[in-house]
Amino acid sequence: GAAPNDLEAFWLPFTANRAFKKNPRMITGAKDMHYIAADGRKVMDGAAGLWCCNAGHNRDPIVAAIRAQAGELDYAPAFQFGHPKAFALAARIAALAPGDLDHVFFANSGSEAVDTALKIALAYWNIQGKGSRTRLIGRERGYHGVGFGGISVGGIVNNRKFFGSLLAGADHLPHTYSREQQAFSRGEPEWGAHLADDLERIVALHDASTIAAVIVEPMAGSTGVLAPPKGYLRRLREICDKHGILLVFDEVITGFGRLGFAFAAERYGVVPDMITFAKGVNSGTVPMGGVVVRKGIYEAFMKGPEHVIELFHGYTYSAHPLACAAGLAALDVYRDEGLFERARQLEGAWADAIHSLKGLPNVLDIRTIGIVGAVDLAPKPDAVGKRAYEAMDVAFREHDLMIRITGDTIALSPPLILREDDIGEIADKLAKVIKAVA
Ligand code: PMP
Repeated sequence: GAAPNDLEAFWLPFTANRAFKKNPRMITGAKDMHYIAADGRKVMDGAAGLWCCNAGHNRDPIVAAIRAQAGELDYAPAFQFGHPKAFALAARIAALAPGDLDHVFFANSGSEAVDTALKIALAYWNIQGKGSRTRLIGRERGYHGVGFGGISVGGIVNNRKFFGSLLAGADHLPHTYSREQQAFSRGEPEWGAHLADDLERIVALHDASTIAAVIVEPMAGSTGVLAPPKGYLRRLREICDKHGILLVFDEVITGFGRLGFAFAAERYGVVPDMITFAKGVNSGTVPMGGVVVRKGIYEAFMKGPEHVIELFHGYTYSAHPLACAAGLAALDVYRDEGLFERARQLEGAWADAIHSLKGLPNVLDIRTIGIVGAVDLAPKPDAVGKRAYEAMDVAFREHDLMIRITGDTIALSPPLILREDDIGEIADKLAKVIKAVA
């Protein structure tokens, strides 16, 4: 029974943002490149929400599609019925996917997409009588959501240390970042492709016949924008092929234009066995995720005679009509406005603007790739992450800029509809923010 403006009352049920009580940052609306703060200010969205609103906010065609769908078919149980927009969206996603990846399994988030992909990998080996292939290999500083699968293969110790032993046998490749070797890199760093060879060490340690799949983000986003070194992903593919290991790209962030292509796999000319997606698939409007796989692997998930389910996996909200309608409309916007190509064209101007912050106080490194940027700030002596936290707060309150922070890194990923003057505005505001927290 709390009054809606009673922030104390909002605190308890709000689970994700620990600092909210002390520092409430309320947003009540959004349009195109901006959020509207509770006090009416227009705040430049430097993060596309949470790496998801790639087409910008509240775009008319997407809003109209969701509205129309809600009045037509509100829900369809995927276990009993199909609905046309689910098939249409799957076909559109398959057409955008690289190589022979052409089957789509829908989930409702990135975490569910990852768990689905890992389960497909295990089922794939199991039904061939190769059930010994149970080991899943992720990467240090990998982020694959917060499901049990995702935290097991994920490389963030704090995300898994309180949750027991998790999936048995998960192991991790080294992360690919070295400040000494890669400082102030634009695009893919020259140094580091050899780190993929660590997969050979893991194979020697555990034996290839125990390894089901390797999962990596082509670019690790949530842990600080770590672009893959030149040639790294290709080398990983080669080693997986050599040992018959499945390769999964987690493209929850990199999918749908962030690096200038529908999927980052295309940018790198590497075709994985599965791609996970979420966020940008419908520009963040309705929860949706999924996995794109090749036919032979998908069939592992269809095990059983026609009327008997032997292997079961699926979600109540798989291929939700609202999410599918939003997805079709978002893909139309991406195509009609050429937003993936645009991201490619703007990559140089974006990199110039963000790298111009080099030399400002406490700036230790800057990385850019596609329409993504990261600025590493020197930690305050008393607390890791505190300076970046202050930067986020000052940016929102005093400079009408929304940024994302992770540790002592400021991460940027604005909507792909941004114009050159938006790029300038983001860089100018960020320069003021960085000076303010010096
Ligand atoms: N994988 C990657 C690469 C991600 O970046 C994220 C979310 N940032 C996830 C998985 C999890 O997605 P969700 O939060 O939708 O579960």
